[in-house]
This record gives sequence, structure tokens and C-alpha cells, in this order.
Amino acid sequence: MPQVFSYQWDTPKYKGSTSFSTGLYIDGKFVDGVNKTTIDVINPATGKLITSISEATEKVVDLAVAAGQKAFETVWGLNTPGAKRAEALWSLAQAMERHKEELAAIESLDNGKTYDWALGTDVSFAIDVIKYFAGWADKVTGQTIETDERKLSYTRHEPIGVVGQIIPWNFPLLMWSWKIGPALATGNTVVLKPSEFTPLTAIRMCEIFSETSIPAGVVNVVTGYGNTAGAAISAHPNIGKVAFTGSTLVGRKIMEAAAKSNLKTVTLELGGKSPNIIFDDADLDQAVSWAAHGIFWNHGQACCAGSRIFVQAGIYDEFVKRFAEKARSIKVGDPFGEGTDQGPQVSQIQYDRIMGYIDSGKQDGATVLTGGDRHGTEGYFINPTIFTDVKPDMKIVQEEIFGPVGVVIKFEDAEDVIRQANDTVYGLAAAVFTQDINRAIQTAHKLQAGTAWINCVNQLHAQVPFGGYKQSGIGRELGEYALANYTNVKAVHVNLGHRW
Ligand code: NAD
Repeated sequence: MPQVFSYQWDTPKYKGSTSFSTGLYIDGKFVDGVNKTTIDVINPATGKLITSISEATEKVVDLAVAAGQKAFETVWGLNTPGAKRAEALWSLAQAMERHKEELAAIESLDNGKTYDWALGTDVSFAIDVIKYFAGWADKVTGQTIETDERKLSYTRHEPIGVVGQIIPWNFPLLMWSWKIGPALATGNTVVLKPSEFTPLTAIRMCEIFSETSIPAGVVNVVTGYGNTAGAAISAHPNIGKVAFTGSTLVGRKIMEAAAKSNLKTVTLELGGKSPNIIFDDADLDQAVSWAAHGIFWNHGQACCAGSRIFVQAGIYDEFVKRFAEKARSIKVGDPFGEGTDQGPQVSQIQYDRIMGYIDSGKQDGATVLTGGDRHGTEGYFINPTIFTDVKPDMKIVQEEIFGPVGVVIKFEDAEDVIRQANDTVYGLAAAVFTQDINRAIQTAHKLQAGTAWINCVNQLHAQVPFGGYKQSGIGRELGEYALANYTNVKAVHVNLGHRW
């Protein structure tokens, strides 16, 4: 039998406890891995062990897929009216509401994000997403299509079957909801693999399923490493679609595995190096605040982080001065501490990676305006960092750092900045700050990005699609657009008297 993990918080922000199995969740039951091997889960604020969880291998993925197939054929899929799936998803949202604080505390412990952000953004938004897709479950309809009077033609949007979902560590429960919501609303069953760095909320949710009307086998959770469990999902012949959020490097591997196995459909939400353009007529106070939110939100571990900040020459000096003050005012520390804005990076690996980028920026001759060093003596904390005097070919300008590190670049005019902003392999998001509505909209339309924000950044809603141009991804999550990823379209032709 898998171990039970118990934990008690007595912090300024949260007092409470949790206790849950650390096993693999297959067909509504917790089981050990086939080899009984485990994965250590580390607290990024201290570098110490939180708990160990069961490791899923290829064989476990087979079992999970079989459970998903059985559930699809018997208790879900085409056998369940949309209204029943809506009720089930709604019961899931309600169960999450009941465990809101506990889920936020687990997320904060596991990922390092502050408890306040975990509660106010991650968990709340995840609940919104499940409610939003509950609303769609009985509204997935096809079309009747006019051809000629002897024929009735219509389309049905049918579920694909068992879908694989592989998610990252930066927004663990939120990414879980972006994946589970549309998959279940459209009648699919799921084999989901959370990141090995942050598996705890996904595992806790498995127990919470028992408080909902979602039948056993509809969601199966396999906690394992990417190159074993993740690879087994992307290559599985009985998985009809895989949805992935993570790095562009791994996204390519998933497409390759899909191509070599059964040509499963693939949707990818990948990395970014998003431009944030600030024209000299912008509301400067607001531009500074939003720009800081753009790059330092979630410790810079956001795929849409506004990591390249372009500032027009007329306000450059003043902007840089205020932006540095803003960055220095960010309180880095204990995610459960009073007033903390920024916790640790998620892991030693990410810490080392980010510090490597900071070193490369220094060696390439960029100026460290603020930060550029670790914070404290234990855990994976990095001070908010801003570079100026950068050149277009520097690694810190070209590559996704995925940490609290922004570069500020001076520009002269709209044409110049749009060219620079689009000079990247990525195309996830972009932002523009100006009080000239024409300039705002014209610029937004010229930016090669799946999302363009005007006078704001990092605004995401369950109703609005999100996804990337270029190497930032394929397909859209959230909104009505997400449903298309999870359905096959069947055209039905009915003969109304045409004799052959
Ligand atoms: P990652 O690509 O290393 O891992 C993501 C997931 O893929 C994890 O569950 C991992 O175990 C799994 N994985 C790793 N190798 C695999 C393989 N060979 N086959 C199948 N699965 C495999 O990314 P990460 O380090 O967890 O997350 C950071 C990256 O994710 C950043 O590049 C970031 O931009 C991106 N991201 C994008 C979005 C988005 O919406 N576009 C959201 C969050 C994160």
C-alpha cells in the first residue's frame, strides 16, 4: 500500500493540516508503482524533503490507459449525457472550494509560490476553469449543413477517447484544471502526468474525486519522470490525443513520439520570450507596476512573462530608475510569511539554470541594474534582477530564462520596436503601453503573439483562449477554442429519398 503523507502548517498565513496517499491513482484507487520505486519531493524554500511519492513507469501508464478505456466505454464518453458531465464537473468545482485553503497550502509548500498567490490566483482560477467547462459540457453541438433537398447532413463533435495530459511545475493545479476541464466536458477520459517537481496537488485532487460524481477511471494520475512515464504517454498506441504544457524542447519530443506511434493529435503550450513595449506617452506609474508584475509574477516562472521590456527613448531613464526601485521593493522570503511577494524558484536545477543566465549576462557585458544574486542562505531564492545595456544577440535577450530576470531595451519608434519584438522564435504573448488608442491597437495587431495585452499584462480568463504563435505552441487552451482540441468531428449524411 502507498504511504500516507501528513503535514501540519502553523504559519502567519495558514494554520491547518493535510493527509493523503502518495500512490498512483488508477481506476479510482491508489496503488504502488510496479517496481515500488519512489520520487522525492523537495521543499524549495528549504531544500529539504517534503515526502516521497510512488513512481509511475511504462507499465503503470498501460494500466492507467486501460482504466481510461474501460471508463470511456462504460461510464463516460458517448454513454454519458452532457448534462451529467456538467453536474460531475460542477461537483468537482464545489469539492475544490471546500478544500481551497488546504490546496493552496500544498501548492505553496510544493512549488514555493506564496500562499496568498496560490489561494488568490492558482486555486481560485483553477476552480473558475472547472466551472467554466462544466458550463460547456451540455453545449457541445455540431451543425446541420445544407446540401440538397434529398439529403440531411450534420456534424457531431465526439470525444476522442483516452487523452494524455502532461503538465509542468510552474502552475501545477492551474495547468491541471486547464487540461482536465475541457477534456472531461467533451467526454474524454484522462491519463494525466504532473511534473515530478510538483505532484502534490494533483495527487490530493485524486482523493477529492471521491467527493464528486466523477466515476472511477475517468481521471487517472501517473506521477513519474518525463523520459519514462511522460514518454510512455506520448508514444502510447491507445491514447488518441496528447496535450502538453512545458518546454519547447520536450514539446518537439512529444510530437516526434506521436508521429512515430499512432499519429495522435498533439496540442502544445510551450515557452516564450514575451515583449513588453512601453511608449513614451504611457502612464508611467502604471507601466512600471505592470512591467514588474509582467516579469516577476510567479518568480518569473510564467511562460508568458514579459521578459523583454522595450522602453521608448524619451522616458527610458525615468522608467529604468522607477523600475529598479520597484524591483528592490519586492519582498523575497518565506512563501507563508507575512508580506512576502516572492518565494523561491522551484528547484535546485532551475536555480542553477537561472544563475547561469545571470552569469552569462554579466560576462557578455550587460549592466546589472538590480539583483543578480541569491537571496538568503538556504532554499532556491533569487533576488529580482534587471539587466540594461544589453545587445540583441546576448543569451539573456534571446533565450527563455524562466526566472525573475528581465532585460530593458531602449527603442526609437514603432517600426523599430515591432521589428525587435518579433525577432524571436517564440510568439506566446506581448504587451503594449500607450495612451494613444490607435497606436495601441495597431501595435497589438502587428505583434506575432497568441495574446496581446494593451495597458496590462498576464491577464488570463477561463473564457478567453490562450496559446502560442511560432515555437510557442500549437492549439489553444481555455475558452470555446479549447473544446476543438478534444473532439473528433463526424459528418453524418442521411439519405432523404435519393434512389441509386
Ligand atoms: P519540461 O518540458 O521539462 O516538463 C514539462 C512536463 O513534461 C513535465 O511533466 C515533465 O516530466 C514532462 N516531460 C519531460 N520530458 C519528457 C519527455 N521526454 N516526454 C514526455 N514528457 C516529458 O518543462 P518544465 O521545466 O516542467 O516547465 C518549464 C517550461 O514550460 C518553460 O519552458 C515554460 O515556458 C513552459 N511552460 C509553458 C506554458 C504555456 O502555457 N505555454 C505554461 C507553463 C510552462
